[in-house]
Amino acid sequence: SPTTRIAVVTGGNKGIGFEVCRQLAGNGVTVVLTARDEARGAAAVEKLRELGLSDVLFHQLDIADAPSIARLADFLKNCFGRLDILVNNAAIAGVELIDDPSFGPKPTVEKFSGMDDHKRVEWMSKNCRQIYDAAKQGLQTNYYGTKQVTEALLPLLLSSSDGRIVNVTSGFGLLRFFRSEELKQELNDVVRLTEERLHELLAAFLKDFEAGALEVSGWPTEFSAYKVAKAAMNAHSRVLARRHPALRVNCVDPGYVRTDMTRNSGLLTPEEGGAKVVAVALLPEGGPTGAFFDGVEEASF
Ligand code: NDP
Repeated sequence: SPTTRIAVVTGGNKGIGFEVCRQLAGNGVTVVLTARDEARGAAAVEKLRELGLSDVLFHQLDIADAPSIARLADFLKNCFGRLDILVNNAAIAGVELIDDPSFGPKPTVEKFSGMDDHKRVEWMSKNCRQIYDAAKQGLQTNYYGTKQVTEALLPLLLSSSDGRIVNVTSGFGLLRFFRSEELKQELNDVVRLTEERLHELLAAFLKDFEAGALEVSGWPTEFSAYKVAKAAMNAHSRVLARRHPALRVNCVDPGYVRTDMTRNSGLLTPEEGGAKVVAVALLPEGGPTGAFFDGVEEASF
């Protein structure tokens, strides 16, 4: 029916994405849960149906695979002719995880909660390695993949009377992690920033990564590919928001959530993290666009 909103969630099979699907469906939204793996996606839909949420469909989507994106766009076009909400949730960490028993057991949730941010990041970075291939894959999936999905679904979002894009980015994508004032300024100047320039900056990042020049060039140094991809996503959201004033294009940090990505080390449950994303997706009509939500509060990039 034209009154039921239709949402697509990427990476809906687990973690925050799964919760976003569950909570959107619970709010009367028709949800297209997508996952790159058919079996994992179908199992997630089955789980939601068992909870009594029948208005959930599955469609395969690998955000880093152009034909897969095109198939989803075709499906939506044929089934609904429009899309009301796109939640770009799927992402990878962009690092190689290492399991070294000499690091000792994972801290308990209580211990983690008591640590300051610096200590937590220290623990996390000890458990992974920044390698070029993982960094490149991180940009490819998190920035370029998300951008491609958004571009393919844009005509359908523009066919909605209240189209929304919610990009699940991260506090790690904030500009304060960049040491170069020039980079910060360029990423923040969304009036002048173009997609071509963003692409050039990301190419320069990878070159610096390969050359071991992250620090001297002023890029983030820890979880660098993840931070750079999320910062680029934040910037791109703002560019899109300006270009398409009819849409609401916003970014949200779900908080530090216990999922596979954080090796279950977070402070919030997936339910709590998902709720923050859903709150932005379901903001009243005519709300902000081009904004970053730190939880549910509008914050600065
Ligand atoms: P998870 O690792 O639990 O889930 C990530 C999801 O993304 C999975 O469904 C995964 O699928 C999917 N995915 C990865 N690559 C692709 C791809 N190429 N195509 C389609 N799906 C893909 O992570 P979270 O739930 O924690 O993360 C969700 C979002 O929240 C991410 O954008 C993350 O950056 C962000 N975030 C998370 C925080 C946290 O503390 N957890 C903090 C800030 C932001 P599969 O199961 O097949 O691997």
